[in-house]
Amino acid sequence: MSQLPLFDVVVIGGGPAGATAADDLARDGRSVLLLDRAGRIKPCGGAIPPRLIKDFAIPDHLLVAHATSARMISPSDQRVDIPIDGGFVGMVDREAFDEWLRERAGRRGAVRRTGTFEGIARDDDGTAVVSFNEVLDDGAQRTTQVRARAIVGADGARSKVARAAAVEGAERTRYVFAYHEIVRAPAVKPAGYDGSRCDVVYRGTLSPDFYGWVFPHGDTLSIGTGSADKGFSLRTAVTSLRQAAGLQDAETVRREGAPIPMKPLPRWDNGRETVLAGDAAGVVAPASGEGIYYAMAGGRFAAESVHAFLDSGDVRSLRLARKRFMRAHGKVFWVLGMLQRFWYSSDKRRERFVSICRDRDVQQLTFDAYMNKELVRKKPMAHVRIFFKDVAHLLGVARV
Ligand SMILES: Cc1cc2nc3c(=O)[nH]c(=O)nc-3n(C[C@H](O)[C@H](O)[C@H](O)COP(=O)(O)OP(=O)(O)OC[C@H]3O[C@@H](n4cnc5c(N)ncnc54)[C@H](O)[C@@H]3O)c2cc1C
Repeated sequence: MSQLPLFDVVVIGGGPAGATAADDLARDGRSVLLLDRAGRIKPCGGAIPPRLIKDFAIPDHLLVAHATSARMISPSDQRVDIPIDGGFVGMVDREAFDEWLRERAGRRGAVRRTGTFEGIARDDDGTAVVSFNEVLDDGAQRTTQVRARAIVGADGARSKVARAAAVEGAERTRYVFAYHEIVRAPAVKPAGYDGSRCDVVYRGTLSPDFYGWVFPHGDTLSIGTGSADKGFSLRTAVTSLRQAAGLQDAETVRREGAPIPMKPLPRWDNGRETVLAGDAAGVVAPASGEGIYYAMAGGRFAAESVHAFLDSGDVRSLRLARKRFMRAHGKVFWVLGMLQRFWYSSDKRRERFVSICRDRDVQQLTFDAYMNKELVRKKPMAHVRIFFKDVAHLLGVARV
């Protein structure tokens, strides 16, 4: 086995998490193999915040639409329009976006391979040996093995790497299932259609524990919903969302769904050479389902921890990825988790929640948290006002 090629790092999965980790590590001068399975476009609404565009230097040509407002819609069809003052939410198509990220990592020196991860074995000296079913340029397939001083598992929800590397707690992850339909934007737009507005619909019939969405993507739209309730029909809910948006007859380009992890795993490394990132590590924000930014942030923290591990040989360095991520984002995840558990639990509460969103302070705070990934401390009085308004709503003494 020792004749096998040796890489500093093998990154498994070339989505936002893996492509970012591979890019950062190659830029730091590490020898990197980036493995990605071919042929499937990640089902995703494709909404990304400005902080992501800035932190990860995303060029404008990858944005298929700029959303400049969000409309929150309540169970009784009350609508609250929230303008995104002076900014926008970017919309990306994952097929082009993910490939661009992988190409960038390749340009920085990561060796790209197309194939499916099979397993991890050990060399005589204990070095990890990664096996994958490689797809060659002529379409032929073969089993390939490479040695790895470190491994980044970024193969998405239900990570096979997490299980193969025996990362503690990986088998106990719980998931929400999200489903969407990509439809072509009709030539004649239905009444109320606005290609620069994201609609977010809170209604028990569309999701008992999440929300439904209509996101514009230039020539197409993503219309979807999600739920942890396995008995809930996501397809029926999307059919009624399409009807409500006047898009029932629009051409359907794709119907697809995927699991979204509900909670960060308790450990992201196996204490040996493997560290997880992105959906594989369980990091999707509660309440919003936002995962692309957190996958890329996680990929970056994973790269930093691998870098430290390769320098020091101390496996404890791999724990840095989770530690730094939770320090940066743990508080927001906790707040969003509470918000989802409380406000998404009945139509009465959803109605109040949308009503609270009329408040300028709430809008400002929510947008700062989403757009810039910050819980802004500049306005302590605004937090105090929101706290009392929330309490009033909780006690039912505020007018809806
Ligand atoms: C319907 C839906 C809508 C969503 N909408 C949004 C949204 O609007 N905004 C947002 O921020 N987030 C959204 N998310 C969440 C977001 O898509 C994910 O959190 C994000 O893609 C996670 O990135 P990742 O790199 O960790 O994993 P993934 O994007 O899943 O990438 C994993 C990669 O690993 C590869 N892979 C998997 N198994 C193997 C294997 N065995 N061998 C080799 N390669 C493998 C896959 O091909 C893929 O390229 C949505 C999710 C869903 C399901």
